[in-house]
Amino acid sequence: MREVKPLHYTQLEGLSEKQLKEHHDVLYAGYVKKIGEIEEKLKTTDMSAANATYSEFGELKREETFALNGVKLHEGYFDNMQPNGSECSGKIKELIERDFGSYETWEKEFRAAGLAGRGWVVLGYDLDEQQLRNVLCDAHNHGGVWNMAALFIMDIYEHAYFLDYGTSRKAYIDAFFKNINWGYVNGLLKKYNI
Ligand code: FE
Repeated sequence: MREVKPLHYTQLEGLSEKQLKEHHDVLYAGYVKKIGEIEEKLKTTDMSAANATYSEFGELKREETFALNGVKLHEGYFDNMQPNGSECSGKIKELIERDFGSYETWEKEFRAAGLAGRGWVVLGYDLDEQQLRNVLCDAHNHGGVWNMAALFIMDIYEHAYFLDYGTSRKAYIDAFFKNINWGYVNGLLKKYNI
């Protein structure tokens, strides 16, 4: 059975506890529950009825990646934030400077993607091309690139900021950038041997 990963911090600058807890305890926990449900149903669903217009099997497979990425992306998002933020440093800073020219150039593109997208922005490391890329995803299971490690994740769905900022996504992105845990990102580079 899948488990809801705990929310490590509820005190972040510019993001209220209510905003964080509802996002974590209701929305993220909902994806954990649903991927568990989908995985269970897939064990018994009738594959002989598979059909591209509608079939129970097809719909379960379609929503399987939506729910699973909903879990993965939210876990990464909550884990790459910490109180008092941190300066970008270490291996991730070296890679950002190598692949984007400077930290500032990377941040400018990441923030712009945050205003242009509808779901997520992910700084990923492409294992084939061996380079970083900012990826704009309009939904959990749209826009991702194969063979890429998701290193740094920003949720830009309205549910991530509407309680605190209404329609002002830019103010939310400013707050998000005050709470970055670059140590966690450097830990992922080690974990994936990048
Ligand atoms: Fe979210």
